[in-house]
Parts: sequence; C-alpha cells; structure tokens
Amino acid sequence: MNIASRFDLVLERIARAAARANRDPAAITLVAVTKTHPPEVIAEAIAAGARDLGENRVQEAALKIPPLAAAYPDARWHLIGHLQRNKAKTAIELFDMIHSIDSLRLAETLNRLLQERAAGRLPVLLQVNVSGEASKEGFDLPGGIANRAGLEALLPEVERILALPCLEVRGLMTIAPIVADPEQARPVFRALRELRDELARRFPRAAWAELSMGMTDDFEAAIAEGATIVRVGRAIFGERAG
Ligand SMILES: *Cc1c(COP(=O)(O)O)cnc(C)c1O
Repeated sequence: MNIASRFDLVLERIARAAARANRDPAAITLVAVTKTHPPEVIAEAIAAGARDLGENRVQEAALKIPPLAAAYPDARWHLIGHLQRNKAKTAIELFDMIHSIDSLRLAETLNRLLQERAAGRLPVLLQVNVSGEASKEGFDLPGGIANRAGLEALLPEVERILALPCLEVRGLMTIAPIVADPEQARPVFRALRELRDELARRFPRAAWAELSMGMTDDFEAAIAEGATIVRVGRAIFGERAG
C-alpha cells in the first residue's frame, strides 16, 4: 500500500472511532509523524492531504522542515519530542506548536526567546507522564488526579507557565506505555483527560481544549477517551528503519 492509501485508511479509522464515541471526527487532528523519513516521503504525505506533521528531534527537523515549509506553506509543524533548552531557539523558528513542554524552566526559556523575537504567542501543550513509567518525559503525575500530593506539587508550576505571556497553553499531551492490547492503555488516556478537566476547573482562563494522545498502536483507544490530536507515524509510513 502506498502512503496516500495508508493515510486515507488512518482517516477512516479515526472517523469510525469518533463515531463509536459519538464524537465529531472533524474535532480530531491527525498529526502525521515524519521522524526518520526523508523530505520526498513527507511530500507524498502532504500530497495525500496531510497538513499537520510531527517531528521529535530539533536537529533532524532543522534539516527537513525549511525546504518543505517553503514548498508547502500551509503545512503545520508539531514538535512532539523532548526539547533541550539549548535547542529552544531553533525550535521556535521551525515549529507551529510544541507538544512537549515538560518543565517550568523550558517554558520560561521559550517565553524569553519568543519575547526577544516579538513573534506573538506560541501554542503549546504540557506533557504529563500519568502512567508512572520511569522512562517517560513529562511532568510526573503517576496515578493522575488521584495522586493528590503530586497534583498539589504540579499546580503551582502550571500556574506559573500560564502566566508566561508568549506561551498559549492549549492542553495536555501524553505517551501511553506499550501494551499488548490497546484497551489496556485506556486508563492512561482517561487519566490525562481527567487531569485536563481538573486544570480547566482550576485555571478557567486558559483554553484546555487539546488532548494530544494516541499513536499507531492505540489511537482508537485514545479517541474513545477524548483525544483531539493523534500522532501517527508507522500506520502511515510503515516501520521505521532507525
Ligand atoms: C514516534 C512518535 C509517535 C508516532 O509513533 P507511531 O507508533 O509510529 O505511530 C507519536 N508520538 C511521539 C511522541 C513519537 O515520538
């Protein structure tokens, strides 16, 4: 199957998962995750209709995005991987949205760089590790909002990030653990949604609309739990070599 057929198939699966959850499929954005793939492969996905594209490494993205952004000015680029502060300056030049805000210090660095550039507000998501897996990046909140001590520690950090004038917090992002059956990932997705609802209640001035969750192996389960952005690589592009 070529990329266009695979892309269409993923859109169909999103529509079916949305229908099962009584949700509008138009409320779910598919981010095609292009990491490891060369520009000509990414161009095929754009020709197939992909407009939201995700990369996880700034260095790789810095080589690939500028020519593609020039050729396809309506494509939107999402940073979905951990961002080191020394790459923050490059990141704000490349990306339209950053899903991986995982510390107050990173948020403050981005805000300062954006202020210097006078480039307006950058849409961001706060990445939260609600599963408790040690290897995952993100603010730690194992157990979700049931973890009252963890929540009380997180709230002041969120409050300070919301006060940064050049960041526009739009919601949360998470990566679920790898499990045998995607249904097993649902509690993690549900925990992120419940945290979002709690933050929206406590900080109603920010827009908490977005939940970036779900990948090739589990995006339908994520949609059942309220995902508004799914990040899909292998189902569109096939297995990655590296
Ligand atoms: C690679 C990656 C994805 C896509 O993973 P697939 O399993 O290829 O769909 C999604 N999110 C993040 C953060 C990634 O690094």
